Amino acid sequence: MYPHTHFLFPYFIGLLLWKFNFLSWKLALIAGVIGVFVDIDHYVEHILHAAKKKFSLVDTWNNSVKLHKFYQRSFIHHWQGALIVSVLLLFGIFWNWQFIIVLALGYYSHLLLDYVHLNNKKSLAAKLGYFYLKEPWGEVVLDVVLIAGIVVVILV
Ligand SMILES: [Zn+2]
Repeated sequence: MYPHTHFLFPYFIGLLLWKFNFLSWKLALIAGVIGVFVDIDHYVEHILHAAKKKFSLVDTWNNSVKLHKFYQRSFIHHWQGALIVSVLLLFGIFWNWQFIIVLALGYYSHLLLDYVHLNNKKSLAAKLGYFYLKEPWGEVVLDVVLIAGIVVVILV
């Protein structure tokens, strides 16, 4: 899934928790940022495996979206990472339960979205400057629903 979807989903859930006084709106925002940050391994893998332009964010993006020259997901996208993160979160719950909920929301929502395939056959394809975009229409619809949900939660 794309970074904006990885942001919108945990942010929406975080805002729902904000409405019920479990989290602050700032922590909901941080949950969204963490949801995006899980994909940092794509950049690390690019640095490790790319033949040229190792530190290029554009090349990292385009390899992930269109070119697929090599696999960019590390262990944090798989069960080994989920196990390590889960153990760390369990220990952390005694330290600051609200921040642990935020971390868990960002991380687990990211894994959930990455392993859900929403109508990948038809995509919104575009090239914005140097960046390729090939977002499945199912994900576009999810984004619109999440944005509408965020607006409703904030306004109501
Ligand atoms: Zn991911």
